[in-house]
Parts: sequence; C-alpha cells; structure tokens
Amino acid sequence: MPGLIERYRDRLPFAPGDPVVSLQEGSTPLVPAPQLSERVGAQVWLKVEGANPTGSFKDRGMTCAVSAAVREGATAVICASTGNTAASAAAYAARAQITGAVIVPEGKIATGKLAQALMHGARVIALRGNFDQALELVRELSANHPIALVNSVNPFRLEGQKTASFEILDEIGPIDALCIPVGNAGNITAYWKGFQEMGSAPRMHGFQAAGAAPLVSGQRVEHPETVASAIRIGNPARWEEAMTAMRDSRGGVEAVSDAQILDAYRFLAAREGVFCEPASAASVAGLLVHGAPEGARRIVCVLTGHGLKDPQVALEQSGSVVPCEPDIAAVERAVLG
Ligand SMILES: *Cc1c(COP(=O)(O)O)cnc(C)c1O
Repeated sequence: MPGLIERYRDRLPFAPGDPVVSLQEGSTPLVPAPQLSERVGAQVWLKVEGANPTGSFKDRGMTCAVSAAVREGATAVICASTGNTAASAAAYAARAQITGAVIVPEGKIATGKLAQALMHGARVIALRGNFDQALELVRELSANHPIALVNSVNPFRLEGQKTASFEILDEIGPIDALCIPVGNAGNITAYWKGFQEMGSAPRMHGFQAAGAAPLVSGQRVEHPETVASAIRIGNPARWEEAMTAMRDSRGGVEAVSDAQILDAYRFLAAREGVFCEPASAASVAGLLVHGAPEGARRIVCVLTGHGLKDPQVALEQSGSVVPCEPDIAAVERAVLG
C-alpha cells in the first residue's frame, strides 16, 4: 500500500505535486478479536496502530504535518510529547532531512520511544515538568521562531489521523461503536471527523486513565499519574472537540484504573496474541469493564501503539524466565514443567 496521503489524497489538503514526506504509514491491520468478542458478547476488531512505521498512530498525523511544513518551507519541526509524537516527529524530520526537536517530561517516557527519538537524530530535551507544561512552552517557542509545531494542535495532524476511520469503513463497513484511549484528545477528534466526512456516526467511547481523567471529572488534573505514560495528560488540547464528538455520537467518556488497564494489556497479549502498549489497552479495559455499549454489535477498539515501546512495563507485568542447565533431563523438566 502507498502512504496515506497518496491513498486518500482526494480527502486530504494536499494537491498533486505537493511534497510528500512518507514512510508508507497507515493501512494497518484490523484484526478480529475472538476472545474479546466472546467476553463482551459483540463482534470486536482491533485496529492495530502499532503496525505503523514508528509503532504508533502518530505517524498518520506526522506524514501530513511534516509534509505541510516542508511545503511551507520549514527547516525545523518541534513538539512536546509523552513519547510517541517525539519518536514519530524525529523519524519524519529525518526522512525530510530537516531538524527535529522534541521536549519530553524528564524520566517519564518509555525506553523504546526515547531510543527512537535519539536514533533518528532529533534534539531531545528532557523537561523538569509534565507534558502540559511542555506543550505550553513549545507553543510559545514556535510562535516566536520559524519552527513548525507538529503537536496535535496542528490541524494537519488531525487530517492524517482521520484516515484510520476511512480504513475501517473501507474494510468492514459501518460499525456501531469505537473504543479509544484519550490523552490530549486529538485522536478521538480525528476519528470522529473521518467518520462524519463519510456520513457515518458510530458511538465514540473514550477512555482515560483514572489518574489522568480531566474529561471525566470536568476539571484539569494538576499532577496526572498513570502507568499508561502516553495518556498521562491533565489538560487536553482538544478538550471541547472531544466532548462534542462523544456527545454528538451518543458515546461517552469513562475512567479505567491502572489495574484494569494492565489486566486488558495482559489479556490482549496472552489471549489475542496482540502486544500493545499500556495506554492502548485502555480502550479494551473500558470495553471489558463497562461492557459493550447497549445495542452495539460491531465494535472497533483502537490499539494506539506497539507493546515493544515500553519493555519495562511488559517485563514487570509478565512471568519470569526459567533458568536451565544445558543437559537434556534439565531441559525436559524446564519445558514440560
Ligand atoms: C498519543 C497517544 C494516545 C493518546 O492520543 P491523543 O490524541 O493524545 O488523545 C494514546 N495512546 C498512545 C499509544 C499514544 O501514543
């Protein structure tokens, strides 16, 4: 498959001949989830966004944001990030041969994401503060310098991310409900935009981590805390749009605890064979905890990022390896238990 700008150019703000910075993102697997379907009594699919080039859905927005920045003559891009936006911005900046700078909360981003940003040659700045502060600072910086801001406050990000809805509709037709993790609330806003543009209106069910659930409480969270680092955000930039999407689609927003997120995370890996990162599992945790929305028979859960992004949490959450001497009897005991 070509990258998503080429695939969906007629529905994106790019003309033929515009520069395209692509790593052939999008066209990700929509995997049936038989075990989960049985648990909730509905037909459930997993939109495996970890299959994107840098391992998260952020690539959908980034191909558009960086292509547009290059079209406008930008020579540098910057973002604040809980990790995946940084990894993606760094990769697309490298691809475009422009400078990438990323500001991340110090000590709060998963190992894989940090490795990616550094390997792609971005300038990585560790802020002694949280994501919300980082976003405020890069907004100010990009207003005063010729550096393109590629956070999801950038409208091109949402344009790219809405293509995931097109793919779902192209592949399985209309669905009844979408379950999706919500952090800065750009992605749920983008999916709703995509569905609406296609005349479709599934119920949008957003899920936040209990320690970072401003949309649920209706109040900013000063010190967001959760194991799901990608959604550790206390003041979502797309707050109003996300609430509108959930209201207009007759969906809703709920919180799930870290324990529930980690249950779903292990369930997906061990029972469905799909390894996502903890934040991604919030969508499935929500579905498991709250059940299928009433009357919903066809449901898609968005798995936003790949499990390998955060090996530390994975190792903490899984069994241990079995040590073994190199002789057949020991191996037999070890294997057959
Ligand atoms: C960015 C991200 C989210 C949250 O998406 P928003 O658009 O900020 O709501 C969820 N999961 C993962 C893995 C992410 O990288």
